[in-house]
Amino acid sequence: MAHAATDPRLASLADDAIVWASQHGLVVGLGAPPASAPACALVHAPLSVLPVAFPEARFEQAVGCMQLFSGLVDAVARDEDYLEQTLAQAAAFDDFTARLLSLLRDSRPARRAAAAAGREVVLGIHRSDYMLDGPSGGFLQVELNTIASSFACLSTLTGRMHRHLIGRAAGASDAARAAAEALAARLPVNKAMEEIAAAMAAAVEAAGGGVVLMVVQPGERNAYDQQWLQQTLWAAHGVRTVRLTLAQVGTRCEVEGGGGGGELRIRGEGGSKPQRVGLVYFRAGYAPGDYPSEAEWAARLLIERSAAAKCPTAAYQLAGSKKIQQALAALGAVERFVGEEGGAALRGLFAGLWSLDDPSAPETAAVIAEAIASPERFVLKPQREGGGNNLYGEELVARLRQGGPGLGAFILMQRILPPPQRSVLLRNGAWAEEESLSELGIYGTFLRKGEEVLLNRNAGHLVRTKTSTSNEGGVAAGFAVLDSPLLA
Ligand code: ADP
Ligand code: MG
Ligand code: MG
Repeated sequence: MAHAATDPRLASLADDAIVWASQHGLVVGLGAPPASAPACALVHAPLSVLPVAFPEARFEQAVGCMQLFSGLVDAVARDEDYLEQTLAQAAAFDDFTARLLSLLRDSRPARRAAAAAGREVVLGIHRSDYMLDGPSGGFLQVELNTIASSFACLSTLTGRMHRHLIGRAAGASDAARAAAEALAARLPVNKAMEEIAAAMAAAVEAAGGGVVLMVVQPGERNAYDQQWLQQTLWAAHGVRTVRLTLAQVGTRCEVEGGGGGGELRIRGEGGSKPQRVGLVYFRAGYAPGDYPSEAEWAARLLIERSAAAKCPTAAYQLAGSKKIQQALAALGAVERFVGEEGGAALRGLFAGLWSLDDPSAPETAAVIAEAIASPERFVLKPQREGGGNNLYGEELVARLRQGGPGLGAFILMQRILPPPQRSVLLRNGAWAEEESLSELGIYGTFLRKGEEVLLNRNAGHLVRTKTSTSNEGGVAAGFAVLDSPLLA
Protein backbone atom coordinates (compact mmCIF):
# COMPACT_ATOMS: atom_id res chain seq x y z
CA MET A 1 0.00 0.00 0.00
CA ALA A 2 1.66 3.21 -1.13
CA HIS A 3 0.87 6.28 0.93
CA ALA A 4 3.29 8.85 -0.30
CA ALA A 5 0.83 11.64 0.44
CA THR A 6 0.06 10.63 4.01
CA ASP A 7 3.47 10.85 5.70
CA PRO A 8 5.50 13.83 4.50
CA ARG A 9 8.53 12.84 6.58
CA LEU A 10 8.77 9.39 5.01
CA ALA A 11 8.10 10.83 1.57
CA SER A 12 10.97 13.24 2.01
CA LEU A 13 13.31 10.47 3.22
CA ALA A 14 12.30 8.27 0.28
CA ASP A 15 13.11 11.17 -2.06
CA ASP A 16 16.50 11.56 -0.38
CA ALA A 17 17.12 7.83 -0.81
CA ILE A 18 16.36 7.99 -4.53
CA VAL A 19 18.65 10.96 -5.04
CA TRP A 20 21.52 9.51 -2.95
CA ALA A 21 21.24 6.13 -4.71
CA SER A 22 21.15 7.68 -8.17
CA GLN A 23 24.12 9.93 -7.48
CA HIS A 24 26.28 7.22 -5.90
CA GLY A 25 25.82 4.33 -8.30
CA LEU A 26 23.37 2.37 -6.15
CA VAL A 27 21.51 1.50 -9.33
CA VAL A 28 20.22 -1.33 -11.51
CA GLY A 29 19.28 -1.50 -15.18
CA LEU A 30 15.64 -0.82 -16.06
CA GLY A 31 13.60 -4.01 -15.74
CA ALA A 32 11.14 -3.51 -18.58
CA PRO A 33 12.35 -0.41 -20.41
CA PRO A 34 9.82 1.41 -22.55
CA ALA A 35 10.69 1.33 -26.25
CA SER A 36 11.77 4.98 -26.04
CA ALA A 37 14.40 4.29 -23.27
CA PRO A 38 18.06 3.95 -24.26
CA ALA A 39 19.73 0.59 -23.60
CA CYS A 40 21.74 2.18 -20.79
CA ALA A 41 18.65 3.45 -18.89
CA LEU A 42 18.87 2.76 -15.17
CA VAL A 43 17.00 3.28 -11.93
CA HIS A 44 17.88 3.30 -8.21
CA ALA A 45 18.19 -0.24 -6.78
CA PRO A 46 15.21 -1.62 -4.86
CA LEU A 47 15.85 -0.30 -1.33
CA SER A 48 14.61 -0.20 2.20
CA VAL A 49 14.46 3.47 3.17
CA LEU A 50 15.56 2.77 6.76
CA PRO A 51 17.82 0.00 8.10
CA VAL A 52 16.28 -2.93 9.95
CA ALA A 53 16.94 -3.86 13.58
CA PHE A 54 18.95 -7.07 13.80
CA PRO A 55 20.29 -8.83 16.93
CA GLU A 56 23.99 -8.11 17.28
CA ALA A 57 24.79 -11.51 18.79
CA ARG A 58 23.31 -13.29 15.75
CA PHE A 59 25.17 -11.02 13.36
CA GLU A 60 28.44 -11.75 15.18
CA GLN A 61 27.67 -15.47 15.20
CA ALA A 62 27.21 -15.46 11.43
CA VAL A 63 30.39 -13.46 10.88
CA GLY A 64 32.25 -15.74 13.28
CA CYS A 65 31.33 -18.85 11.26
CA MET A 66 32.13 -17.61 7.79
CA GLN A 67 35.75 -18.75 7.65
CA LEU A 68 34.69 -22.19 8.80
CA PHE A 69 32.07 -22.32 6.05
CA SER A 70 34.60 -21.29 3.42
CA GLY A 71 36.97 -23.97 4.64
CA LEU A 72 34.10 -26.45 4.51
CA VAL A 73 33.32 -25.60 0.89
CA ASP A 74 36.95 -26.11 -0.06
CA ALA A 75 37.20 -29.42 1.79
CA VAL A 76 33.97 -30.74 0.24
CA ALA A 77 34.97 -29.55 -3.24
CA ARG A 78 38.25 -31.41 -2.97
CA ASP A 79 36.48 -34.67 -2.18
CA GLU A 80 35.19 -35.36 -5.67
CA ASP A 81 34.09 -38.90 -4.80
CA TYR A 82 31.87 -37.43 -2.10
CA LEU A 83 30.40 -34.94 -4.58
CA GLU A 84 29.72 -37.66 -7.15
CA GLN A 85 28.16 -40.08 -4.69
CA THR A 86 26.06 -37.51 -2.88
CA LEU A 87 24.75 -35.97 -6.09
CA ALA A 88 24.21 -39.25 -7.99
CA GLN A 89 20.47 -39.54 -7.38
CA ALA A 90 19.82 -35.84 -8.05
CA ALA A 91 21.86 -36.09 -11.27
CA ALA A 92 19.82 -39.09 -12.42
CA PHE A 93 16.71 -36.87 -12.48
CA ASP A 94 18.15 -33.41 -13.02
CA ASP A 95 20.02 -32.83 -16.24
CA PHE A 96 21.67 -29.63 -15.01
CA THR A 97 23.28 -31.37 -12.04
CA ALA A 98 24.33 -34.19 -14.36
CA ARG A 99 25.99 -31.71 -16.72
CA LEU A 100 27.93 -30.09 -13.90
CA LEU A 101 29.13 -33.51 -12.77
CA SER A 102 30.21 -34.26 -16.36
CA LEU A 103 32.13 -30.99 -16.36
CA LEU A 104 33.89 -32.11 -13.20
CA ARG A 105 34.79 -35.49 -14.73
CA ASP A 106 35.72 -34.27 -18.20
CA SER A 107 38.05 -31.62 -16.82
CA ARG A 108 39.78 -33.93 -14.35
CA PRO A 109 42.87 -34.91 -16.38
CA ALA A 110 43.52 -31.28 -17.35
CA ARG A 111 43.01 -30.10 -13.79
CA ARG A 112 45.41 -32.75 -12.54
CA ALA A 113 48.00 -31.65 -15.08
CA ALA A 114 47.63 -28.03 -14.00
CA ALA A 115 47.85 -28.97 -10.32
CA ALA A 116 50.97 -31.08 -10.94
CA ALA A 117 52.55 -28.05 -12.62
CA GLY A 118 51.75 -25.93 -9.55
CA ARG A 119 49.06 -23.98 -11.40
CA GLU A 120 45.91 -24.82 -9.47
CA VAL A 121 44.33 -21.61 -8.15
CA VAL A 122 40.78 -21.59 -6.80
CA LEU A 123 38.92 -18.57 -5.49
CA GLY A 124 35.77 -18.79 -3.40
CA ILE A 125 33.50 -15.77 -3.09
CA HIS A 126 30.79 -17.16 -0.89
CA ARG A 127 27.68 -15.78 0.72
CA SER A 128 26.05 -17.68 3.54
CA ASP A 129 22.42 -16.61 4.06
CA TYR A 130 20.45 -16.76 7.31
CA MET A 131 17.12 -15.92 8.83
CA LEU A 132 15.96 -15.63 12.42
CA ASP A 133 13.43 -18.28 13.29
CA GLY A 134 10.62 -16.74 15.34
CA PRO A 135 9.01 -19.89 16.75
CA SER A 136 12.27 -21.42 18.05
CA GLY A 137 14.15 -18.19 18.76
CA GLY A 138 16.90 -19.77 16.67
CA PHE A 139 19.05 -18.49 13.85
CA LEU A 140 19.22 -20.73 10.80
CA GLN A 141 21.11 -20.94 7.52
CA VAL A 142 18.95 -20.65 4.41
CA GLU A 143 21.72 -21.67 2.01
CA LEU A 144 25.35 -21.09 1.10
CA ASN A 145 26.08 -19.59 -2.33
CA THR A 146 29.32 -20.51 -4.05
CA ILE A 147 28.63 -19.07 -7.49
CA ALA A 148 27.71 -15.52 -8.56
CA SER A 149 27.10 -14.39 -4.97
CA SER A 150 25.80 -10.97 -5.89
CA PHE A 151 24.98 -7.56 -4.40
CA ALA A 152 28.22 -7.18 -2.43
CA CYS A 153 28.86 -3.76 -3.94
CA LEU A 154 25.32 -2.44 -3.91
CA SER A 155 25.07 -3.66 -0.31
CA THR A 156 28.20 -1.70 0.62
CA LEU A 157 26.57 1.39 -0.90
CA THR A 158 23.26 0.70 0.85
CA GLY A 159 25.03 0.91 4.22
CA ARG A 160 26.54 4.27 3.24
CA MET A 161 23.14 5.51 2.12
CA HIS A 162 21.55 4.51 5.41
CA ARG A 163 24.27 6.33 7.33
CA HIS A 164 23.47 9.43 5.28
CA LEU A 165 19.69 9.11 5.70
CA ILE A 166 19.93 8.67 9.47
CA GLY A 167 21.77 11.97 9.62
CA ARG A 168 19.27 13.66 7.30
CA ALA A 169 16.31 12.37 9.28
CA ALA A 170 17.63 13.80 12.56
CA GLY A 171 16.51 17.15 13.88
CA ALA A 172 18.90 20.08 13.90
CA SER A 173 19.44 20.27 17.67
CA ASP A 174 22.71 19.03 19.17
CA ALA A 175 20.85 16.34 21.08
CA ALA A 176 19.09 15.10 17.93
CA ARG A 177 22.37 15.01 16.04
CA ALA A 178 24.10 13.13 18.81
CA ALA A 179 21.26 10.61 18.84
CA ALA A 180 21.56 10.16 15.07
CA GLU A 181 25.29 9.60 15.37
CA ALA A 182 24.73 6.97 18.04
CA LEU A 183 22.21 5.27 15.76
CA ALA A 184 24.53 5.33 12.75
CA ALA A 185 27.27 3.77 14.88
CA ARG A 186 25.09 0.69 15.13
CA LEU A 187 25.40 0.10 11.37
CA PRO A 188 28.33 -2.31 11.05
CA VAL A 189 31.00 -1.20 8.60
CA ASN A 190 30.62 -3.12 5.34
CA LYS A 191 33.73 -3.61 3.22
CA ALA A 192 32.26 -6.19 0.85
CA MET A 193 33.19 -4.21 -2.27
CA GLU A 194 36.81 -3.71 -1.23
CA GLU A 195 37.25 -7.21 0.21
CA ILE A 196 35.90 -9.04 -2.80
CA ALA A 197 37.85 -6.96 -5.30
CA ALA A 198 41.00 -7.51 -3.21
CA ALA A 199 40.44 -11.28 -3.22
CA MET A 200 39.96 -11.24 -6.99
CA ALA A 201 43.17 -9.25 -7.45
CA ALA A 202 45.01 -11.71 -5.18
CA ALA A 203 43.73 -14.60 -7.32
CA VAL A 204 45.03 -12.91 -10.49
CA GLU A 205 48.41 -12.47 -8.86
CA ALA A 206 48.50 -16.07 -7.61
CA ALA A 207 47.73 -17.22 -11.15
CA GLY A 208 50.65 -15.23 -12.56
CA GLY A 209 48.85 -12.10 -13.73
CA GLY A 210 46.48 -11.21 -16.55
CA VAL A 211 42.97 -9.88 -16.82
CA VAL A 212 39.82 -10.91 -15.00
CA LEU A 213 37.41 -12.59 -17.38
CA MET A 214 33.96 -11.86 -15.97
CA VAL A 215 31.48 -14.32 -17.44
CA VAL A 216 28.15 -12.53 -17.60
CA GLN A 217 24.58 -13.09 -18.73
CA PRO A 218 23.48 -11.22 -21.83
CA GLY A 219 21.30 -8.24 -20.81
CA GLU A 220 22.15 -8.53 -17.08
CA ARG A 221 20.05 -6.06 -15.09
CA ASN A 222 22.37 -6.16 -12.10
CA ALA A 223 25.42 -5.19 -14.17
CA TYR A 224 26.18 -2.13 -11.99
CA ASP A 225 26.89 -4.29 -8.95
CA GLN A 226 29.39 -6.13 -11.18
CA GLN A 227 30.76 -2.90 -12.64
CA TRP A 228 31.62 -1.68 -9.15
CA LEU A 229 33.90 -4.70 -8.78
CA GLN A 230 35.51 -3.88 -12.12
CA GLN A 231 36.01 -0.25 -11.14
CA THR A 232 37.51 -1.23 -7.79
CA LEU A 233 39.76 -3.86 -9.37
CA TRP A 234 41.12 -1.18 -11.69
CA ALA A 235 41.32 1.72 -9.24
CA ALA A 236 42.74 -0.16 -6.26
CA HIS A 237 44.70 -2.95 -7.96
CA GLY A 238 45.37 -1.94 -11.56
CA VAL A 239 43.63 -5.10 -12.79
CA ARG A 240 41.58 -4.98 -15.98
CA THR A 241 38.33 -6.85 -16.53
CA VAL A 242 36.88 -8.20 -19.76
CA ARG A 243 33.18 -9.06 -19.77
CA LEU A 244 32.10 -11.95 -22.01
CA THR A 245 29.05 -14.16 -22.18
CA LEU A 246 29.61 -17.93 -22.29
CA ALA A 247 28.76 -17.84 -26.01
CA GLN A 248 31.45 -15.19 -26.54
CA VAL A 249 33.97 -17.23 -24.52
CA GLY A 250 33.33 -20.03 -27.02
CA THR A 251 34.25 -17.91 -30.02
CA ARG A 252 36.95 -15.67 -28.50
CA CYS A 253 38.93 -17.77 -26.01
CA GLU A 254 41.49 -20.51 -26.39
CA VAL A 255 43.69 -22.61 -24.16
CA GLU A 256 47.42 -22.55 -24.83
CA GLY A 257 48.59 -25.74 -26.52
CA GLY A 258 44.96 -26.71 -27.17
CA GLY A 259 45.13 -29.37 -24.50
CA GLY A 260 44.51 -29.30 -20.81
CA GLY A 261 46.07 -27.25 -18.06
CA GLY A 262 47.38 -24.46 -20.30
CA GLU A 263 47.01 -20.71 -20.16
CA LEU A 264 43.60 -19.26 -21.02
CA ARG A 265 43.67 -16.44 -23.56
CA ILE A 266 41.20 -14.05 -25.11
CA ARG A 267 42.10 -13.74 -28.78
CA GLY A 268 42.86 -10.24 -29.98
CA GLU A 269 40.33 -8.56 -32.25
CA GLY A 270 41.22 -6.26 -35.13
CA GLY A 271 44.96 -6.75 -34.78
CA SER A 272 45.13 -6.28 -30.99
CA LYS A 273 47.24 -8.66 -28.92
CA PRO A 274 45.70 -11.68 -27.16
CA GLN A 275 45.07 -11.22 -23.45
CA ARG A 276 46.14 -13.69 -20.80
CA VAL A 277 43.34 -14.49 -18.35
CA GLY A 278 44.39 -14.61 -14.69
CA LEU A 279 40.98 -15.23 -13.14
CA VAL A 280 37.65 -16.34 -14.55
CA TYR A 281 34.87 -14.92 -12.38
CA PHE A 282 31.40 -16.30 -13.06
CA ARG A 283 28.34 -14.09 -12.73
CA ALA A 284 26.58 -16.51 -15.08
CA GLY A 285 26.58 -20.26 -15.50
CA TYR A 286 24.49 -21.08 -12.42
CA ALA A 287 21.19 -21.72 -14.22
CA PRO A 288 20.19 -24.02 -17.11
CA GLY A 289 19.12 -20.95 -19.11
CA ASP A 290 22.76 -19.85 -19.18
CA TYR A 291 23.49 -22.84 -21.46
CA PRO A 292 21.03 -22.49 -24.37
CA SER A 293 23.20 -24.72 -26.59
CA GLU A 294 26.16 -27.10 -26.44
CA ALA A 295 28.44 -24.16 -27.30
CA GLU A 296 28.02 -22.68 -23.79
CA TRP A 297 28.83 -26.02 -22.15
CA ALA A 298 31.89 -26.34 -24.40
CA ALA A 299 32.98 -22.84 -23.34
CA ARG A 300 32.57 -23.75 -19.67
CA LEU A 301 34.66 -26.89 -20.21
CA LEU A 302 37.34 -24.89 -22.00
CA ILE A 303 37.63 -22.63 -18.93
CA GLU A 304 37.52 -25.53 -16.49
CA ARG A 305 40.37 -27.28 -18.36
CA SER A 306 42.57 -24.19 -18.36
CA ALA A 307 45.12 -23.11 -15.78
CA ALA A 308 43.34 -19.81 -15.06
CA ALA A 309 42.13 -19.26 -11.51
CA LYS A 310 38.40 -19.89 -11.29
CA CYS A 311 35.66 -18.46 -9.12
CA PRO A 312 34.08 -20.87 -8.80
CA THR A 313 35.36 -24.18 -10.11
CA ALA A 314 32.76 -26.78 -11.07
CA ALA A 315 33.56 -28.51 -7.80
CA TYR A 316 32.91 -25.36 -5.77
CA GLN A 317 29.65 -24.81 -7.62
CA LEU A 318 28.55 -28.37 -6.83
CA ALA A 319 29.66 -28.03 -3.20
CA GLY A 320 27.21 -25.13 -2.92
CA SER A 321 24.24 -27.16 -4.18
CA LYS A 322 21.14 -27.65 -2.07
CA LYS A 323 21.70 -31.40 -2.08
CA ILE A 324 25.16 -31.05 -0.54
CA GLN A 325 23.77 -28.63 2.07
CA GLN A 326 21.24 -31.28 3.04
CA ALA A 327 23.81 -34.08 3.06
CA LEU A 328 26.18 -32.11 5.30
CA ALA A 329 23.44 -31.71 7.88
CA ALA A 330 23.24 -35.49 8.35
CA LEU A 331 24.81 -36.74 11.58
CA GLY A 332 28.60 -36.81 11.38
CA ALA A 333 28.76 -35.43 7.81
CA VAL A 334 29.91 -31.85 8.37
CA GLU A 335 32.20 -33.10 11.17
CA ARG A 336 34.00 -35.27 8.65
CA PHE A 337 35.13 -32.14 6.83
CA VAL A 338 35.69 -29.58 9.58
CA GLY A 339 36.22 -31.75 12.66
CA GLU A 340 34.14 -32.06 15.84
CA GLU A 341 34.81 -28.53 17.07
CA GLY A 342 34.02 -26.93 13.72
CA GLY A 343 30.95 -29.12 13.39
CA ALA A 344 29.74 -27.98 16.80
CA ALA A 345 29.99 -24.34 15.70
CA LEU A 346 28.15 -24.88 12.41
CA ARG A 347 25.57 -27.54 13.25
CA GLY A 348 23.44 -25.23 15.41
CA LEU A 349 22.85 -23.10 12.30
CA PHE A 350 21.39 -25.97 10.28
CA ALA A 351 17.65 -26.05 9.76
CA GLY A 352 15.84 -29.38 9.43
CA LEU A 353 16.91 -30.85 6.07
CA TRP A 354 15.75 -34.12 4.58
CA SER A 355 16.93 -36.22 1.64
CA LEU A 356 14.24 -37.48 -0.74
CA ASP A 357 16.59 -39.95 -2.48
CA ASP A 358 14.53 -42.90 -1.27
CA PRO A 359 10.94 -41.73 -0.73
CA SER A 360 9.85 -45.17 0.48
CA ALA A 361 12.38 -45.33 3.34
CA PRO A 362 10.33 -45.20 6.57
CA GLU A 363 11.78 -41.95 7.96
CA THR A 364 11.51 -40.26 4.53
CA ALA A 365 7.93 -41.44 4.06
CA ALA A 366 7.14 -40.07 7.53
CA VAL A 367 8.50 -36.57 6.81
CA ILE A 368 6.79 -36.52 3.39
CA ALA A 369 3.48 -37.32 5.10
CA GLU A 370 4.14 -34.56 7.61
CA ALA A 371 4.89 -32.04 4.86
CA ILE A 372 1.74 -32.99 2.94
CA ALA A 373 -0.28 -32.48 6.13
CA SER A 374 1.44 -29.19 7.10
CA PRO A 375 3.01 -27.67 3.98
CA GLU A 376 3.37 -24.25 5.67
CA ARG A 377 6.18 -25.73 7.77
CA PHE A 378 8.32 -26.87 4.81
CA VAL A 379 10.05 -25.77 1.60
CA LEU A 380 10.74 -28.14 -1.32
CA LYS A 381 13.92 -27.20 -3.15
CA PRO A 382 15.28 -28.31 -6.53
CA GLN A 383 18.97 -28.05 -7.46
CA ARG A 384 18.71 -24.47 -8.67
CA GLU A 385 20.06 -20.99 -7.93
CA GLY A 386 18.89 -17.48 -8.58
CA GLY A 387 15.57 -17.35 -6.76
CA GLY A 388 12.03 -18.29 -7.74
CA ASN A 389 12.64 -22.04 -8.00
CA ASN A 390 11.42 -23.43 -4.67
CA LEU A 391 8.03 -25.02 -4.10
CA TYR A 392 5.70 -23.98 -1.28
CA GLY A 393 2.17 -24.76 -0.17
CA GLU A 394 -0.02 -26.43 -2.76
CA GLU A 395 2.80 -26.86 -5.27
CA LEU A 396 4.90 -28.59 -2.64
CA VAL A 397 2.03 -30.90 -1.75
CA ALA A 398 1.35 -31.73 -5.41
CA ARG A 399 4.99 -32.60 -6.11
CA LEU A 400 5.32 -34.71 -2.96
CA ARG A 401 2.06 -36.53 -3.76
CA GLN A 402 3.35 -37.29 -7.25
CA GLY A 403 6.25 -39.10 -5.52
CA GLY A 404 8.68 -41.30 -7.45
CA PRO A 405 12.47 -41.50 -7.54
CA GLY A 406 12.59 -38.10 -9.27
CA LEU A 407 12.08 -36.58 -5.84
CA GLY A 408 15.80 -37.28 -5.39
CA ALA A 409 16.43 -34.11 -7.40
CA PHE A 410 14.83 -32.14 -4.53
CA ILE A 411 15.50 -31.67 -0.85
CA LEU A 412 12.94 -30.95 1.80
CA MET A 413 13.69 -28.17 4.25
CA GLN A 414 12.16 -26.84 7.43
CA ARG A 415 10.48 -23.53 6.73
CA ILE A 416 12.17 -20.79 8.70
CA LEU A 417 9.70 -18.21 10.02
CA PRO A 418 11.39 -14.88 10.67
CA PRO A 419 9.59 -12.46 12.99
CA PRO A 420 7.71 -9.88 10.90
CA GLN A 421 8.66 -6.19 11.13
CA ARG A 422 7.62 -2.99 9.34
CA SER A 423 9.75 -1.57 6.53
CA VAL A 424 9.48 1.18 3.98
CA LEU A 425 10.22 -0.51 0.67
CA LEU A 426 11.26 1.64 -2.28
CA ARG A 427 10.99 0.30 -5.82
CA ASN A 428 11.04 2.16 -9.13
CA GLY A 429 10.58 5.51 -7.45
CA ALA A 430 7.52 4.48 -5.41
CA TRP A 431 7.56 3.57 -1.74
CA ALA A 432 5.23 1.61 0.51
CA GLU A 433 5.30 0.73 4.19
CA GLU A 434 4.81 -2.99 4.51
CA GLU A 435 5.06 -5.92 6.87
CA SER A 436 8.38 -7.51 6.00
CA LEU A 437 10.96 -10.23 6.70
CA SER A 438 14.73 -9.98 6.45
CA GLU A 439 17.54 -12.34 5.41
CA LEU A 440 21.16 -11.72 6.41
CA GLY A 441 24.00 -12.76 4.10
CA ILE A 442 27.66 -12.90 5.12
CA TYR A 443 30.35 -12.84 2.43
CA GLY A 444 33.57 -14.79 2.70
CA THR A 445 36.59 -14.97 0.42
CA PHE A 446 38.88 -17.98 0.19
CA LEU A 447 41.93 -18.37 -2.05
CA ARG A 448 43.99 -21.51 -2.43
CA LYS A 449 47.00 -22.22 -4.63
CA GLY A 450 47.81 -25.91 -4.60
CA GLU A 451 48.03 -26.87 -0.94
CA GLU A 452 48.51 -23.32 0.29
CA VAL A 453 45.55 -21.32 1.58
CA LEU A 454 46.43 -17.72 0.68
CA LEU A 455 43.25 -16.07 2.00
CA ASN A 456 40.29 -16.96 4.17
CA ARG A 457 38.53 -13.76 5.19
CA ASN A 458 35.24 -12.33 6.28
CA ALA A 459 34.18 -10.07 3.46
CA GLY A 460 31.18 -8.03 4.51
CA HIS A 461 27.44 -8.51 4.60
CA LEU A 462 24.07 -8.03 2.92
CA VAL A 463 20.55 -7.72 4.23
CA ARG A 464 17.60 -8.33 1.94
CA THR A 465 14.11 -7.47 3.10
CA LYS A 466 10.93 -8.70 1.42
CA THR A 467 7.22 -8.35 1.92
CA SER A 468 6.20 -11.00 4.45
CA THR A 469 3.62 -12.46 2.07
CA SER A 470 6.29 -13.33 -0.52
CA ASN A 471 7.84 -16.79 -0.31
CA GLU A 472 11.04 -16.05 -2.17
CA GLY A 473 13.64 -13.42 -1.35
CA GLY A 474 15.73 -12.52 -4.39
CA VAL A 475 16.43 -8.86 -5.14
CA ALA A 476 17.29 -9.56 -8.78
CA ALA A 477 14.24 -11.81 -9.04
CA GLY A 478 12.12 -8.80 -7.96
CA PHE A 479 11.00 -10.10 -4.57
CA ALA A 480 13.23 -8.23 -2.13
CA VAL A 481 14.97 -4.91 -1.54
CA LEU A 482 18.47 -4.11 -0.28
CA ASP A 483 18.68 -3.24 3.39
CA SER A 484 21.22 -2.82 6.21
CA PRO A 485 21.34 -4.31 9.69
CA LEU A 486 20.98 -1.90 12.59
CA LEU A 487 22.56 -3.90 15.37
CA ALA A 488 20.70 -4.05 18.66
P1 ADP B 1 18.30 -19.56 -4.26
O1 ADP B 1 19.59 -20.31 -4.40
O2 ADP B 1 17.46 -19.64 -5.47
O3 ADP B 1 18.50 -18.17 -3.75
P2 ADP B 1 17.24 -20.12 -1.61
O4 ADP B 1 17.38 -21.42 -0.90
O5 ADP B 1 18.04 -19.01 -1.08
O6 ADP B 1 17.49 -20.38 -3.16
O7 ADP B 1 15.72 -19.73 -1.59
C1 ADP B 1 15.25 -18.52 -2.13
C2 ADP B 1 14.48 -17.73 -1.09
O8 ADP B 1 13.41 -18.52 -0.57
C3 ADP B 1 15.29 -17.32 0.13
O9 ADP B 1 15.96 -16.11 -0.10
C4 ADP B 1 14.22 -17.21 1.20
O10 ADP B 1 13.54 -15.97 1.13
C5 ADP B 1 13.25 -18.31 0.81
N1 ADP B 1 13.58 -19.55 1.54
C6 ADP B 1 14.46 -20.50 1.17
N2 ADP B 1 14.54 -21.47 2.07
C7 ADP B 1 13.72 -21.14 3.06
C8 ADP B 1 13.35 -21.76 4.29
N3 ADP B 1 13.86 -22.91 4.66
N4 ADP B 1 12.44 -21.12 5.07
C9 ADP B 1 11.89 -19.95 4.68
N5 ADP B 1 12.19 -19.32 3.53
C10 ADP B 1 13.09 -19.90 2.72
MG1 MG C 1 21.49 -19.57 -3.92
MG1 MG D 1 19.29 -17.63 -1.91
